[in-house]
Amino acid sequence: MGLVHRRIAVLTSGGDAPGMNAAIRSVVRCAAEAGIETVGVRDGYAGLAQRKFEDLTIRSVGGILHRGGTVLGSARFPDFCEAAVRERCIESLSDAAIDGLVVIGGNGSQRGAHALHQQGFPTVGIASTIDNDLAGTDITIGVDTALNTAVRWIDQIKDTATSHHRAFVVEVMGRDSGYLAVMAAIATGAELAMVPEQETSVEAIAGLVRTSYASGRGHYIIVVAEGAKLKAHDLVTQLNEHPSGFEARLSVLGHVQRGGSPSIADRVLGSQLGAAAVAALAAGQSGVVAGRVDGKTALLPGEMVIMPCQKVTAELLQLAAALAQ
Ligand code: ADP
Repeated sequence: MGLVHRRIAVLTSGGDAPGMNAAIRSVVRCAAEAGIETVGVRDGYAGLAQRKFEDLTIRSVGGILHRGGTVLGSARFPDFCEAAVRERCIESLSDAAIDGLVVIGGNGSQRGAHALHQQGFPTVGIASTIDNDLAGTDITIGVDTALNTAVRWIDQIKDTATSHHRAFVVEVMGRDSGYLAVMAAIATGAELAMVPEQETSVEAIAGLVRTSYASGRGHYIIVVAEGAKLKAHDLVTQLNEHPSGFEARLSVLGHVQRGGSPSIADRVLGSQLGAAAVAALAAGQSGVVAGRVDGKTALLPGEMVIMPCQKVTAELLQLAAALAQ
């Protein structure tokens, strides 16, 4: 198919993720190679509504590959759920002679991108969220770095937990997904992962902790997903009310997981997905999201990507449990 777009826009939206800058840089440079100009939109859909546009060049995206966060800024903008607001944004894009849009972001952002596509504006997404909660794609930009950060933190907590014979309840991010929690538990050898995808009772957990203490284990680490029904701080309170031998302490990783220089995997993934998104727009495609399937870059239908996804499988949970014996 021939070249359709001469000027495209790129924005980052929703929760930021390490590796978004690699994707922005790749979009700009791959577009330039195809003879397409790129306009950056500041602060996600909010900036789109306010026409916060700036020209990006192959030079202006230099020196950003290794930086965390997003140089374009990000925002949450609930008004974008209204069709009339999106229609005005489409007008703004057309007024600026922009005829295609790349949306780098997670589930909510891809919903917005899909809505723009349905309203007739050529839009392609790039799967990017530390939560890994987009359906169809094996992985999203930012997950690898966020996991590395969580693992570094939990390893350090483990050292002090062993010294003081403590149980630590460590809360990690992930919104409604337990992916970060279960993967971090496997990677750190944590004793337990608590995820929204699996119900657990305080009594059962207290029993496990007590048995562990009695068997001579030096510490007990529980990695809790922020979306788990039983909240991390409530679990700590309850564990201290059901004495097991270990004193329980809480550690909440919070936003530290979003920041930091992206890992090699996220820099490469961002670069590859940026290239795929530009190629898709240039080929006249819209309503697709660049992601990774079976190790290869793939374009996935937008309506599929925003469906509920099941990345925390029974096999992963069984593995985490088996290794924690
Ligand atoms: P993320 O993209 O990281 O999942 P959010 O869920 O906060 O982050 O979504 C980011 C933004 O995407 C929202 O602030 C809103 O502007 C837009 N958005 C979310 N859901 C929708 C929707 N159903 N329709 C249109 N836009 C949406």
